[in-house]
Amino acid sequence: MSPLQQRPIYLDAHATTPVDERVLAAMLPYFTEYFGNPASINHHYGWEGEAAVTQARETLAAAINASPEEIIFTSGATEANNLALKGVAEAYFSQGRHLVTLATEHNAILDPMDYLESLGFEVTRLPVMSDGLVDIEELAAALREDTILVSVMAANNEIGVLQPLAEIGQLCRDRGIRFHTDAAQAIGKIPLDVQAQCIDVMSLTAHKVYGPKGIGALYVRRRNPRVRLAAQLHGGGHERGMRSGTLYPPQIVGFAKAVELGLAEMEEESARLRELRSQLWKRLSVLEGIYLNGHPTQRLPGNLNVSFEGVDGQALLLGLQPVMAVSSGSACTSVKIEPSHVLAALGREESLAYASVRFGIGRFNTLEEIERVAEHVISTVEALRKVGAIAR
Ligand SMILES: *Cc1c(COP(=O)(O)O)cnc(C)c1O
Repeated sequence: MSPLQQRPIYLDAHATTPVDERVLAAMLPYFTEYFGNPASINHHYGWEGEAAVTQARETLAAAINASPEEIIFTSGATEANNLALKGVAEAYFSQGRHLVTLATEHNAILDPMDYLESLGFEVTRLPVMSDGLVDIEELAAALREDTILVSVMAANNEIGVLQPLAEIGQLCRDRGIRFHTDAAQAIGKIPLDVQAQCIDVMSLTAHKVYGPKGIGALYVRRRNPRVRLAAQLHGGGHERGMRSGTLYPPQIVGFAKAVELGLAEMEEESARLRELRSQLWKRLSVLEGIYLNGHPTQRLPGNLNVSFEGVDGQALLLGLQPVMAVSSGSACTSVKIEPSHVLAALGREESLAYASVRFGIGRFNTLEEIERVAEHVISTVEALRKVGAIAR
């Protein structure tokens, strides 16, 4: 066996995904042949780059029912989130200082929110219900005269839970409040429609949907109503002045191709991932004391997040590592291991939050892999429980 074949099974599709070969093929000519700077308006090479970017922008806009000029390319969803939150806060602070978000958001939302709070903004971080969904009535009650922005993620990166975007969007629209959603996990996997869902600002990224890392976008509504945004990166005035910096055609072309494929194959792929997930859950269910984290059906097709009673989280992860690449429900900060803020928000007790595993099933996983994973999880958990019982 080659060393490559001995690598563990990749089951961490929420962290990142491999670039699809079809995406890579679309990107390759833009590294060496069509290398022009899209901002070089005086010659043929620049026009080639510009044409590629224009087409990608059209593809991405169509994928979310937006217009091309509403797409602002960024380095990924982290930058898009920062631009959205800081950009809106700065543009509207004379109208109000209140921002609303969820306790279960990605750190790329929570950290900019903390930063804005340090500048004098007021942030409401809403709790979620035990299934991970926001309580719409609680959200409605949190909105105030001086609320300028609501930011609620489309799909959670740990538990896969899909928030009711259309309901939240309508609520915000009725009150004249801007609605931002972090759709990093959602684009190309579930349908998104900025008109039907009343989304005003939306963050996207390519690398969770089989596109390259280092490229994403921010959708910024231009009409009905127009959303203003203060630039956070100043320079050549690219992207309608909202995000300066030379555009990167290979990444942009790859991003659009990845989303196009995601959309074209969404139905079929979702069904396949759902089946693999249900096979995994069915097999794991021979174990007692296991708990599904997050809503049973209102979640990303490839996501399964499970807590295992009576095992140590670190020991479990170590036991699983030789066979599979998965993420745990705890995050190592610089000083200590902390249980995931998402699982804590569901009300999971600490020991269960530590002993949880996020299985992120993706496009290239097979049923054979899922069977092997299930077998190994079961034997590892049983072994750890036996050792624990002896120790007691
Ligand atoms: C991955 C992820 C991000 C960060 O995206 P990058 O493109 O890696 O910066 C933000 N939000 C969510 C929900 C994510 O899953």
